[in-house]
This record gives sequence, C-alpha cells and structure tokens, in this order.
Amino acid sequence: VPPKVSDAPLPAAPLIGHDALRARLADSADHDRLPAAMLLHGRAGVGKQRLALWLAQRLLCQSETGDRLCRSCQSCKFAAALTHPDLRWVFPRPRLKDADASPADVMRDLAEGAGERLADGLVYAPPAGTEGIYVATIRAIVRQAGITPAMSRRKVFVIGDAERMVSQEGADQAANAFLKLLEEPLPDTTIILTSSEPGALLPTIRSRVVAVRVPALADADVRSWLRHPTVSARLDALGVTGSEDDRIKRAAGAPGTLLAGTHASDAMDAARLLLRADRTTRYRRALKQGAAGARGAFSDTLDALTVLVHERAREAANKGDADAAHAADEGMRAIERAKTYAESNVNPQLITAELLRAIK
Ligand SMILES: [Zn+2]
Repeated sequence: VPPKVSDAPLPAAPLIGHDALRARLADSADHDRLPAAMLLHGRAGVGKQRLALWLAQRLLCQSETGDRLCRSCQSCKFAAALTHPDLRWVFPRPRLKDADASPADVMRDLAEGAGERLADGLVYAPPAGTEGIYVATIRAIVRQAGITPAMSRRKVFVIGDAERMVSQEGADQAANAFLKLLEEPLPDTTIILTSSEPGALLPTIRSRVVAVRVPALADADVRSWLRHPTVSARLDALGVTGSEDDRIKRAAGAPGTLLAGTHASDAMDAARLLLRADRTTRYRRALKQGAAGARGAFSDTLDALTVLVHERAREAANKGDADAAHAADEGMRAIERAKTYAESNVNPQLITAELLRAIK
C-alpha cells in the first residue's frame, strides 16, 4: 500500500438538511437580528461547521439582486473556495512549533488546514486528540477582528470545536481580549462558535454567546449526502465499511460520526510502513512523516508504533528469542523518548530518523 498522498481536490460535498434552522437563521440575518456571537451546538457529525460556513457565505454575499446567497458574486466565490479575506475558519490544529508564532503564521497555518479540508471535499475526520485551539490562535482572532473588512461589509469567524480552546497560564491577556470581543462585539463582526460538547466550553465563553441547537438529520438527508460522489469516494478512501443502509443506521442522524476513528487506522498504516521499510526507504518515509506530522498525525503514529513494537516484544518472548526481545525492548524505549521529543516540538523528521536508527 503506497503512503497516502493527496489526490486531486474533490468537489465540496453539499450542505444537506437543517432546512427549518437554515430558514430561521436566514430570516434573522435578513432582519439584522443575528446575534453577533453565537454557538451552534449539537451532536458531533451533524454538520455544524458546514452550516456555519453556509451562514458565513450568506452574510458575506455581495449580490445586488436581493439574492442573499447568489453563488456568483466575487464574495460567494471566495467564500466557497475558503479564500475570502473576511471569512476566518478556525479549528483545532497541531500546536505550532514556534511558541511565539505571529498572527500571520497562525492564519497561514489555518488557511493550510482549511485547504486540506476543502481538497477532501469538506468530508474530514474530527481533529486528533493532540490538536487544539491554542493561545497564539486566540491572539490572531483578536487581532483579525480589529481589522476593517477587506471586501465585504463584515467579517465572519467560524470557530469549530470551540471546546478545544486551551486556557493557558500566562495567556490572560489574550483570553480577556477574546471574551471582550464576545461581549462587546464590533458592529462589523460575527462570531460563530460550534461545539458538540458545549459543557466543556470555558464557562466564561458559554455565558457570552447565544446558543442555537443544531438537530440531528433525517435519515433521508443522510442518504442523499451519502450518495454524493465526493462523500462516497472519501468514505471508501478512509476505509469506512458497510452498505448504505448500514451507514445510515450507524450515522443515526450525524453522518460525520462515520468519519471518526479513521485517525487510528491512518496512524496504524503509517506505523506499519515505517517498520516494514528497508533502511533507505525508511529515511524517505521519515521525511514524509515530517509532512504528516504537520497535520497532527505524528503523535498518533507514535502511539501506533508502541502497539506494533509491543506486539513484537510479546512474540519474541513467546518464541524465546532473546535477541529479538531485547531489540523490541530498545525499540519501546526509543519510542517513549520520541514521544517526549514530540511534546517539546522537536521536528518530526529528526525524531523519526533517530527513532528508525533505534528500531531494528
Ligand atoms: Zn453572492
């Protein structure tokens, strides 16, 4: 199996369902009654961020014909391509290596992440456990909010999985500035948070946003989503099994949940490849791992390596092969070292190269 590289970008899967809610939000937007800071909450995988992006495009559309989401004006085109300068899609990302990353660095990283999600047709797995919304990102949002809109009449921030906002020691200033933004929003700024665990949101944030519940989808809507070519291609690529009826049953109104758990199998594939490769290909793999690490998969790969090398150790012990057992032992120690390095933001390529020297 060749390592996964990104194929040609897929056309974005459509927003489905939520008709009643969409009509309500549209009506509020048209009458200028939309809260400046709102929280879309509902089960994981019901399409909250997709819905927020739809609303953002609607708010940014510059059509003069009265159509509020014309899909043909410059704003609509940029919003659909996720390149609109007044639309910022924020979601959990791996912590940037540079602890003092500038707002521009953060926005570049987020744009890269959004580009990856878009290339996957907006059919993406939930963020890995190691990904978060760190203080540098909060700072970047606050900074961006203070800037005049570049193109449309307003700026829209979509902040997905907002419960992953990390409160960090010594970051009071950024946190307070963000709270102030929610409390006294600028007249040209709309902030849409989404969360499937609103209870895990910082209480100071929860109390400052208007909560809007996003219900589960009807099975008929899930079915039409599953039938979109982008969705079926992505589910197949991610190794999601089962017939259409199976998938609908498992989705239970939240088809995004079908995509959960694919991180673990991706990581296991990557770990197997690393162990299987001969010495030269290993180094090439190590270089590739650097790129994968930038997408937050590195820690997951290390966890998967632990499982695999532990299996080796057990097999060696069963066979009474002392040399192999010793090698596996050394390997386990090297992986634990690598995990420590990974936490301190050492370059994943260096870590992998070092690790592969230690694993026989
Ligand atoms: Zn438009």
